[in-house]
Amino acid sequence: MAVYNNAKCRVCRRSGEKLFLKGERCYTAKCGVVRRAYPPGQQGKAKRVRLTDYGLQLREKQKIRRNYGLMEKQFVNYVEDAVSQKGNSAEILLSALERRLDNVVYRAGLAPSRKSARLLVNHGHFKVNGKRMDIPSYQVKVGEIVTISESSRKNNYFKNISEQLTKMEVPSWMALDPKKLEIKIVSEPTSKEVMLVADIRPVIEYYSR
Ligand code: SF4
Repeated sequence: MAVYNNAKCRVCRRSGEKLFLKGERCYTAKCGVVRRAYPPGQQGKAKRVRLTDYGLQLREKQKIRRNYGLMEKQFVNYVEDAVSQKGNSAEILLSALERRLDNVVYRAGLAPSRKSARLLVNHGHFKVNGKRMDIPSYQVKVGEIVTISESSRKNNYFKNISEQLTKMEVPSWMALDPKKLEIKIVSEPTSKEVMLVADIRPVIEYYSR
């Protein structure tokens, strides 16, 4: 599996936005963007250069790609697929990204970050509709149910997670049952509930040229 290895806080600072790549730390005063609200590097504190349209498109694309922890090729595949379908390309793209199994696990509160969620999926801790699924990019469909596998429920990480999940506010496109440790996808995710600090329209324009 390809892994994005750059120092996470530098990536956020370069984007000028919080991309929430480090789990709980992102919500504290230790966040790199809070502590150093300027780009990394020696010239970081110098005045920001005004971006061209192309530069803006590129920046927004990088934010989204890094937010979901995707390599360039993977992201391009998502966008090309969305643009080739009938309908609102931005909504189709966001729905596909949000319905990745690793993102579903993260948004349900079963992992502190998408990267952790990806590892948990890779290690085979989840089932989709009763079948083991260890592919983080698996697209969970409306009506499908994600559960923690029986053997993994004894694992220290999952033992007490049920109580944590009772406080979890999940997006309306999923239903979380903390007791059963079960997530059901009840509708297509929409842009209104996506935790994204990037503007997706320039990205669609970038790939529609
Ligand atoms: Fe680092 Fe998270 Fe803050 Fe980004 S949002 S700078 S990853 S702590």
